[in-house]
Amino acid sequence: MSSSAPPLIAAIEAGGTKFVCAVGTGPEDLRDVTRIPTTTPEETMGEVCRYLTMMKAKHGDFAAIGVGSFGPIDLDTSSKSFGYITTTPKPGWQYVDVVNMLRTRYHVPVAFDTDVNAAVLGEYLWGAGKGIDPLIYITVGTGVGGGVLVHGQLLHGLLHPEIGHLVVPPPLNSTAVQGICHCPFHKSCVEGYISGAALAVRWGVKADALPEDHPAWDEVAGVMAHALMNLTLSLCPKRIILGGGVMEQPHILPLIRGKLSKVMNGYLRVPELGREIDQFIVGPGLKGKSGILGALALGRYVL
Ligand code: ADP
Ligand code: ZN
Repeated sequence: MSSSAPPLIAAIEAGGTKFVCAVGTGPEDLRDVTRIPTTTPEETMGEVCRYLTMMKAKHGDFAAIGVGSFGPIDLDTSSKSFGYITTTPKPGWQYVDVVNMLRTRYHVPVAFDTDVNAAVLGEYLWGAGKGIDPLIYITVGTGVGGGVLVHGQLLHGLLHPEIGHLVVPPPLNSTAVQGICHCPFHKSCVEGYISGAALAVRWGVKADALPEDHPAWDEVAGVMAHALMNLTLSLCPKRIILGGGVMEQPHILPLIRGKLSKVMNGYLRVPELGREIDQFIVGPGLKGKSGILGALALGRYVL
């Protein structure tokens, strides 16, 4: 980034149920936000472009477009399908070329990453992980996903992090019904146990309707604690942010912190896993805006 005034960015948070689109320069200057339902790629992308063109007429040219997307997506710049949503189970959205479509239409750089990598970047720049590196952001919503920032870069490699599918022990010590995993791929993964979708199937009500003393929460905390232990031991994060609808329960973070300390069993003697654990496992600073501000942050990073 060169000029002193922050550049105007178009941001798209591409989700399985809705696309949130916005234009702005940062959290203090989000000039417009809209929500477009996710239907077919033609219809949804058509609406996204109609909105962006309207915003361009109103606010001027964007310097870049940032897209944080549901996945899996192809981030390998040498691949033929770079910039595509790839093998998603979402009907009609397999191999949709998001990046080229936007680039051809608006002739500006397009930054593309997972919704959760976008969110971790947004939280790193402006939220609960300001300047903290390595940083992890995990969302527990309809599904479970996670983004990782290491040494100032979003982590990519073989693909991108797929934290939702980390394998964890079945929650056998819970007072809940014994571990049934709802992931079609794995027998014992985080998403299969504690995503909003899994909880709804398991308990017959939406996660937001489960009372605070319901045994489900003990299980959610136990599963998450194991995932956090694995991430802490493998990636050495200095902070982990837990977002998404299911993590909005006020009692869940303290429960998770307690279980994390327990499963760690004193192995790492650092303040972050002791008296400072409240600063290690935290909620998002950008609240419901981590995704869209993250997409905006991606757009800024590409410049
Ligand atoms: P999405 O994953 O669709 O992007 P959210 O992060 O809002 O969206 O997650 C939606 C899921 O979170 C649903 O399964 C819903 O039941 C659950 N949820 C939303 N709010 C709460 C809450 N306050 N407590 C527990 N679960 C919640
Ligand atoms: Zn899985």
